[in-house]
Amino acid sequence: MGIYASLGIRPVINAEATLTRLGGSLMSERVLQAMAEAAHNFVDMPELQQHVGERIAELTNNEAAFVCTGAATGLFLTTLACMVGNDPDAVARWPHIEKNEIIVHNNHIQKVPYVLAVRQTGAQLVGIEGSEGALEDAFSERTAAVLYMAGEHLRENTLDLQRVVELSHAQGIPVVVDAAAQLPPAENLWRFTRDEGADLVIFSGGKGLRGPQASGLILGRKDLIEACRTHGAPNQQLGRPMKVGKEEMVGLLTALEEYLAKDHAAILARMEEIVAMWISEFGAIPGVSALRAFPNEAGQPTPRVQLTFDKTVCGLNGTEVRDRLWEGDPRIAVASAGENGVFITPELLSEEEVVVLTEQVKALFA
Ligand SMILES: *Cc1c(COP(=O)(O)O)cnc(C)c1O
Repeated sequence: MGIYASLGIRPVINAEATLTRLGGSLMSERVLQAMAEAAHNFVDMPELQQHVGERIAELTNNEAAFVCTGAATGLFLTTLACMVGNDPDAVARWPHIEKNEIIVHNNHIQKVPYVLAVRQTGAQLVGIEGSEGALEDAFSERTAAVLYMAGEHLRENTLDLQRVVELSHAQGIPVVVDAAAQLPPAENLWRFTRDEGADLVIFSGGKGLRGPQASGLILGRKDLIEACRTHGAPNQQLGRPMKVGKEEMVGLLTALEEYLAKDHAAILARMEEIVAMWISEFGAIPGVSALRAFPNEAGQPTPRVQLTFDKTVCGLNGTEVRDRLWEGDPRIAVASAGENGVFITPELLSEEEVVVLTEQVKALFA
């Protein structure tokens, strides 16, 4: 009996997204092997973090890198780095830190619940509308950093990142980018920092990179990465509860190497083929309309299919389709597109799962 079956748990075919509540993403055999190998020896953890960081920095065209337990931890540590700096003694004054304001677009505060990880440091969020005047008015003696959420779906009422960087740097204020779910495209690993001038950028290890679910990546300016190191485990500092293991460090590095070596154009072309196949298969069902949706839910340049149901003709609405796929055998997760529709994404499916999912959806209407 498999581990999940022995626990009374049914595995999920994930056609929804790289969601934490579904397990993030799946690691390759090579990544699992690297983690298993790392698990066989004790090691000097700061030394491992340093060497893995140097390797990752080189691979991603960044000055420095730090492996953490997830992008939410990345938000926590980068906020501390900008607010407290690299002085462990300054933590003695915490949470009474003078420079404790983080400026964020209101649209980003509303749409990205992870900003809670910033507030967990004791920082205050200062919300702004998307105008240069609003940003300039928000700067003060107390400003520690500007936080910017990357993603095409988050651009409403916001300034361009490059403009935010120019205005912030003119005041000597660092800019942190949360790009947790912005891989692919792979170029994003250096775009926000090297090309657009942000000081730090954060990625999830357990989303597009397909590293360990409990891993994340902070990339960018060396002095600020040093400060993240200061506040993180194994140091007995504020980041100590968010301990990253040797297995995660090695697993994430291996996943990153694999990710950069992938043929991303071929992967995208295969996703387009699957979406086109679904449009023709599902679109042929009476009462079902099928369209290519682009970009995806995280604003990434990858396609998915959007199905809309006319219940009077096909007998089911979107909520019912979603529930039946979840209750079916095998269990399948698809995303809601409101009461009358669903989104189905090919990104995380194996070829066999594509076949199974296609049959299961068609069987609902047979
Ligand atoms: C997923 C996500 C996070 C949190 O990432 P974890 O790696 O799960 O901690 C933070 N910010 C954004 C924008 C995200 O999409």
